[in-house]
Amino acid sequence: MAPPKGPQIHYQQIPTTLQQQQQQQQQQPQRPNFQMALLPPPQDRLYPTFEALQADLKAFTRSQGYAIVTLSSLNRDIEGRYRRYNLCCAKGGKNYTSHSKGLRAGRSTKTGCPMRMKAVQEKAWPYGDKWHVIVQCAEHNHEPFTGEPGVVVPAQFRKIEQDGMRWLIIMHREAQLSLRQLTIGLRISFGEKYQYVKKSDVRNMLAKIKRDEDRKTAAAAAAAGLPANLPYTLLPPSHQPPPPPLQHVEQMPPLPEGLQVPDPDLESDDEDGDDDDE
Ligand SMILES: [Zn+2]
Repeated sequence: MAPPKGPQIHYQQIPTTLQQQQQQQQQQPQRPNFQMALLPPPQDRLYPTFEALQADLKAFTRSQGYAIVTLSSLNRDIEGRYRRYNLCCAKGGKNYTSHSKGLRAGRSTKTGCPMRMKAVQEKAWPYGDKWHVIVQCAEHNHEPFTGEPGVVVPAQFRKIEQDGMRWLIIMHREAQLSLRQLTIGLRISFGEKYQYVKKSDVRNMLAKIKRDEDRKTAAAAAAAGLPANLPYTLLPPSHQPPPPPLQHVEQMPPLPEGLQVPDPDLESDDEDGDDDDE
């Protein structure tokens, strides 16, 4: 059974600086974010797949002002699939370097946040081979991300997934939208999922789609027995013109029966043959 953990103890623990307090006071009337309390995810939800768990977790943590990253994966089953993932707050995990000496080493926005959890697939009752979340540490050491301007958006919230990709392909190819239009469209067409996506994310995704398609074209050419670097691609058979009608063509007469053709491989290949014209 999942241990019942009171979520109400995990917010408002970090003393805010005066500047942050002022910012919050200024922003509160226009953007009330009292629901962003860095709450840990619910532990009573069972998911059929890790992907389903991940998607729900992402939506939940976004609503709480933090992002989750995968630390490691383990416990492979006999088919090689993982049955456990260690997850943590995107501001924690590896690659945290302290800035306590005022040195700005890189652009890391990590704070060494201790928030940890695991996603496990359990066979035993009542899990029935489903996935669920176990929160190991529910505390954060930073403020929630509320989307205010000037604050670095967690990379996870800028990632465009399959649904966004499909939308982009259609709106880019068929509707011929500009980069600006695509970015705005993506932000408003998927609920809150892509609200933090930037133009550069859309530009990178369009470039990736193009690369993937080029690779697919090359792979199709290779499968058709052609080298990958040809200057042309192949028209699908359904679009090719019908073969020309058969016409009677006079054939060369067959060789007379019993004709002996000397095998050139059995001859001497001497260039000084005595039947030369020279
Ligand atoms: Zn955190």
